[in-house]
Amino acid sequence: MPDRKESESRKLLGRLREALAEDSAGQTRLDRVTHLIADSMGTEVCSIYLFRDPETLELCATQGLNPEAVHQTRMRIGEGLVGRVAGRGEPVNTANAPQFPGFRFMPETGEDVFSSFLGVPIQRLGENLGVLVVQSKDGRVFTEDELYALEVVAMVLAEMAELGAFIGEGQALSARHMQPAMFRGGIGQEGVARGSVYLHEPRVVVTNPIADDPKVELIRLQESVNALRVSVDDLLKISDSGDKEQREVMKAYRMFANSRSWVRRMEADVASGLSAEAAVEKEQSAARNRLSKVPDAYLRERLQDLDDLSNRLLAILTGQGSDTGAEMPENPILVARNIGPGELLAYGRSLRGIVLEQGSVGSHAAIVARALAIPLVIHAEGITTEALNGDTILVDGEKGVVHLRPDETVAEAFFDKIAMHAAAQERYVTLRDKPAEALCGTVVSLQMNAGLMADLPSLVNSGAEGVGLFRTELQFLIRNKVPRRAELASLYSQVMDAANGKRVVFRTLDIGSDKVLPYMKPQDEPNPAMGWRAIRVGLEKKGVMRMQLQALLRAANGRPLSVMFPFIAQLDEFRQARQHLLDEIEREKHLGHIVPENVEIGAMLETPSMVFAPRQFFELADFVSIGGNDLKQFFYAADRENERVRRRYDTLNVSFLSVIERIVERCNAAGTPVSFCGEDAGRPIEAMCFAALGVPTLSMRPASIGPVKHLLRRVNLKDAKAVIEAASDSGAQSVRPAVMEWLRGTS
Ligand code: PEP
Ligand code: MG
Repeated sequence: MPDRKESESRKLLGRLREALAEDSAGQTRLDRVTHLIADSMGTEVCSIYLFRDPETLELCATQGLNPEAVHQTRMRIGEGLVGRVAGRGEPVNTANAPQFPGFRFMPETGEDVFSSFLGVPIQRLGENLGVLVVQSKDGRVFTEDELYALEVVAMVLAEMAELGAFIGEGQALSARHMQPAMFRGGIGQEGVARGSVYLHEPRVVVTNPIADDPKVELIRLQESVNALRVSVDDLLKISDSGDKEQREVMKAYRMFANSRSWVRRMEADVASGLSAEAAVEKEQSAARNRLSKVPDAYLRERLQDLDDLSNRLLAILTGQGSDTGAEMPENPILVARNIGPGELLAYGRSLRGIVLEQGSVGSHAAIVARALAIPLVIHAEGITTEALNGDTILVDGEKGVVHLRPDETVAEAFFDKIAMHAAAQERYVTLRDKPAEALCGTVVSLQMNAGLMADLPSLVNSGAEGVGLFRTELQFLIRNKVPRRAELASLYSQVMDAANGKRVVFRTLDIGSDKVLPYMKPQDEPNPAMGWRAIRVGLEKKGVMRMQLQALLRAANGRPLSVMFPFIAQLDEFRQARQHLLDEIEREKHLGHIVPENVEIGAMLETPSMVFAPRQFFELADFVSIGGNDLKQFFYAADRENERVRRRYDTLNVSFLSVIERIVERCNAAGTPVSFCGEDAGRPIEAMCFAALGVPTLSMRPASIGPVKHLLRRVNLKDAKAVIEAASDSGAQSVRPAVMEWLRGTS
């Protein structure tokens, strides 16, 4: 026996379905819908406000307010009660609207006589499309049942809007997903690309938001939930063979799949007249709305689980799955909320660009995108709800901007930018086999950073002299369990084969901080970048480090080997790490394995403490590589992952350059080779300044080698050094303006 709330909304939905089924124009449909809702709910007013642009709502239909105000009355998000509902994504229910905080009277609507107000957001999967409002003269508070019924109706309206049921005159009623849109995000990987949208998780299209027969619908829902549970159990079985932490994560996931309250809420939605799909989306929308407001990372992750389960359930119900059969277009640009490194690698170099709604500069996806040299924009908020498969899309990884369905002028300007890029690339190719020799005769060694087998072809193509930094954690990040020694040995061996005698500097695992292994329990640390990471983990969890060192020794199989340890913060850490490697060499010898004749053991210098380390550190290290990314973040106390501060301090700031100079002096005094392998080594002006200060080796992304070499070959580094010194003496904060001025004069 359905309760009152269910039968009320079911009746309303029944009438709504008839109104929507009629073959009429979008405006007529909207008018009918408002009339019908007001009539069913016994209110004098029902109005529908839709977004005409991301900031502005427009009154699009009304029963009860002044009809002249339709398409005239507009409000910004957060403005008045309607704007408040839209801004917060939450209902407002009040018996006395004029007294409610934020109330703003719209005289042209004639709403002054209506005291009660109930407004609910029209949302689809967390995307705000508008606001549905009922108002009445009698000062009543609407009941929970009425609120629920209005939310159910709003859900159906959102689905119908998605299907284009309300397309009509004017911007607010224009077809969705047709207009140009621009997204300002963050830079994940530089580069520009033009192509067509390829959605990683295509939108599921719900064609029947209202159930034909709630009983049948309930059975569909329950059967699908059962199928979902079986599939999650299967996943759990697979993860049984994985490690303990991974199983724990999967168990939490299963707990959600079995959550009674989640299923009960969806059953109630179906009993109220929604189709099973619409019920799943209604709860998913609510979860996404909560997700955006929860500050706690753990809870956010749990809500993320729920979101994921909802997607799976929708895929089961609609049979659309994540593989909707959409062909990968030519020049595909992947658009996703987020993506794991493994999935990204599976797409590989076929992608022209990547746009993510989430992600971060140091996320695994960003690391892989960088390794594959695919332009990446992160934090493009709302792109997955706006973009459709096949849409034209322009990705500007230099600025962190994305243009979706661009108009002609934007597309043309972008085309020019791409052409300029291509021309520059061609110019760099001609330099490939030439040395990075400055006009003063100084030759700088340019090497490349790598981390995947996929990087190695760049060694030849870019003209790099070797691999100055091989980030070994990538191989750990893209797997779902710790790789075995033999597996690693074979991979490292292939890397050395591909390097064909060129030097490869393997950096031991730098995990922790932003690089959390999927199978390692995340440490709940207040400040992970300064926490238990890199060599700190290696020296305490010796098993993994030893296994990695053995794999490296076996991979070398007699060939020269270069190993460096990350994040050394005091001499003893380097001593201990170095000793581990020496011990492993002895052990390998003892076991009868061939060991390299020549093993170089280096240290990364990426904490300010090491600039002032005892002389013995510089003497003990066979080489030192400056990890500028970390060194800079700790030197300036500015998080490299934090968009707000990460670009605040200039690398060419006099203080930072003094530190670089000091490191060079200390290395020279000990006769220890020094290099720079942070991102700044790949920026031509920065690279030139480092070289002028005496850094003889720079290691960078392969794509940066051409531009850096091009500049180095044009300048006299002695003159550059004089410019830097004069600017430093002048009291300037950064030498950049003086260097730029000088460069303009030399060209
Ligand atoms: C650095 O810190 O500069 C560096 C090269 O290491 P990573 O970016 O991997 O921390
Ligand atoms: Mg580092």
